[in-house]
Amino acid sequence: MNTKVLDKQQEGRDVIARAARLDREASPLARREAAAIRDAFAMEAEDLTGNVATVPQTPCPACGCFTLRAIKGKAHCVSRHCAPRPGLRRRWAYRDLAFVRPGTPRGVQRSEGYPADIRPLPFLVEFFAASGHRVPLSTLTRWVKLHNLPRWPVDSKTYAYSLSDVATVHAVQVAAREGRQCGNGARPACSGLSDLFFNTDDQAGAMDQSLMKRRVAVAKELCADCPFLDPCREMALKPNGQAQHGVAGGLTRNERRELKTRRGVSA
Ligand SMILES: [Zn+2]
Repeated sequence: MNTKVLDKQQEGRDVIARAARLDREASPLARREAAAIRDAFAMEAEDLTGNVATVPQTPCPACGCFTLRAIKGKAHCVSRHCAPRPGLRRRWAYRDLAFVRPGTPRGVQRSEGYPADIRPLPFLVEFFAASGHRVPLSTLTRWVKLHNLPRWPVDSKTYAYSLSDVATVHAVQVAAREGRQCGNGARPACSGLSDLFFNTDDQAGAMDQSLMKRRVAVAKELCADCPFLDPCREMALKPNGQAQHGVAGGLTRNERRELKTRRGVSA
């Protein structure tokens, strides 16, 4: 046991005492702070032993992706879409990471050109497994097709994708399925997935028909569990809600038209 570990042990006792003091205060802010100092201490201690599990399981407070890696006492967000400047990584001190609430994913993003983080799908399966949100290869294959992510050939049969692109899909899917809370309450299941919900019209033109059907099916599946299904459907069925494209309130544009016509007849 080296002196660093001994110091950490003493610091741990101080942290527990401080957290307990805050807990006794019992205000929501004090409780949150107590939880944060405990979490931050756990991340620091893990970092010291080289066995890092908590950081990759925490969504980045800025982009909401599970792309944080513990490097030299800081959490680095490795998503290129989150970088404050090209080539720079967003970094979080463990104390900030533990205190700031998880970020809401802003939506699915796509890379142009030839990004530096192109990885084959089996690598990405391993990468996301570290977040505690395991995604089977078959699901990942379906996602990248569904969102039409750019791909780069590895050999004649396999393709690689930008880790950052796939991470944004992963983050919105996890947030939608968990119905993660933000400051204002629950999020609608479609937030961050506008391309999936809007590019589902029969008039979508050049889009592959089977891909379009699959998109509609997935969008409807997400609507079915959404806490906002009823109000969203009512909005979409208002007489002047015609302009809206894509799936809304669990219905396609054609289905909404039909329902409106039927309602008009019965009214
Ligand atoms: Zn980030």
